[in-house]
Amino acid sequence: MTAIKYKAYSLNNYLSIPQVEKLSARAKRNIEVVSHVFPFKVNNYVIDELIDWDNYENDPIFHLTFPQEGMLLPHHYNKMAGALEQSPDKIFHKETSNKIRVQLNPHPAGQQEHNIPEIDGQKLMGLQHKYRETVLFFPSSGQTCHSYCTFCFRWPQFVGMEELKFAMKETELLIKYLEKHQEVTDILFTGGDPMIMNFKVFQKYIEPFLEDDNKTNIQTIRIGTKSLSFWPYKFLTDDGADDFLRLFERITSKGINLALMAHFSHPRELDTQAVQEAIKRIKRTGAQIRTQSPLLKHINDKPEIWAEMWRKQVNLNCIPYYMFVVRDTGAQHHFAVTLADSWEIWRKAYQNVSGICRTVRGPSMSCTPGKVQVLGVSEINGEKVFVLRFLQGRNPDWVARPFFAKYDEDAIWMDTLEPAFGDSFFFEEEAEMVYGENYYDPQVSSFE
Ligand SMILES: *Cc1c(COP(=O)(O)O)cnc(C)c1O
Repeated sequence: MTAIKYKAYSLNNYLSIPQVEKLSARAKRNIEVVSHVFPFKVNNYVIDELIDWDNYENDPIFHLTFPQEGMLLPHHYNKMAGALEQSPDKIFHKETSNKIRVQLNPHPAGQQEHNIPEIDGQKLMGLQHKYRETVLFFPSSGQTCHSYCTFCFRWPQFVGMEELKFAMKETELLIKYLEKHQEVTDILFTGGDPMIMNFKVFQKYIEPFLEDDNKTNIQTIRIGTKSLSFWPYKFLTDDGADDFLRLFERITSKGINLALMAHFSHPRELDTQAVQEAIKRIKRTGAQIRTQSPLLKHINDKPEIWAEMWRKQVNLNCIPYYMFVVRDTGAQHHFAVTLADSWEIWRKAYQNVSGICRTVRGPSMSCTPGKVQVLGVSEINGEKVFVLRFLQGRNPDWVARPFFAKYDEDAIWMDTLEPAFGDSFFFEEEAEMVYGENYYDPQVSSFE
């Protein structure tokens, strides 16, 4: 395969993308206005191999990567557009966009600190330990991506709102923490995208787990990544591609389960020769690839899309893992699908694939008390209800207990649901003690 050199585009150079000529004046204006508030970055693979430019208005990958008018509420859009028209002053533009960003309120001060572990009285800012078995690790060199998703809830990390950035320089403290916490079997490298790292840096993070005197109880290393969708050449022709694969092989040979938690939002992302070859190469190292995505209006809100995507993933020897409900990202109004519709889409897709594809779980909301699955809509004593359960709980004892919420056709998130029977959900008292009120507002929650 011929090597392709990575080239990134953002607001300052996107007009040099040849295909951009096909965009209407309005589409370009939307990019200019919206990308002053939300981050925008795309690359030559996404542009040349994934987007259908002759039908860009309805193209899911265009919608996934290029800023869209509807992502800003009209008054925010007009305010930003007004600022751009009124003055060429970049500082004024920045002030305007920051004012809007604060109203989108990604993480109110002081509230993002839940689940950040401590060791010897020192907070480990690049770690999150919420579910007993699994620690999330945000390596400081993995805090960007090959291309940005328009719906991303981690965008504050990318727009230089520094205090919101989770990162940790050292693996040393991580290892120390894991040695002390033998209940932790899984380490999940996340970001951004850890696969943005060059090989030498990446290896530094992994090496301690391969040493003979490793005293942690880590049995699974997971890597959350969108690189298979956005830059499969990472595993093919990039510098270090073969080194990565050899390292993966060393991990699995050591008896450690290695799982790439690959983010795929649309079956199109599975169709190129590059992605298929990258998957093959990764699989040959003994690593697993598990797949996940949120359910997104305009991008993948049809059961046929999910059924096709899961089937294709399985045919490529990947394991469908999670379907998420889109959380409050600042642009939730644009991407949200109601819980009722999410479940309809979920079950129609699920009904149309064989059991082999049904390793997937969802629709799942990552809220502060845990991951809550919408099991379905049902009726009990004439009352219409949502049947819910925890797939993961802040308290492991909450997991796999069905509970009921009043049916609400318009609900898009846990925070507006009310208990169907009694005054509170079974976990609420305990969750309130840990988190205070508003605990399942996603904005009050930590990263996941
Ligand atoms: C989703 C998540 C995990 C992983 O949960 P699994 O169900 O084991 O995949 C770990 N930590 C946090 C904070 C999460 O949100």
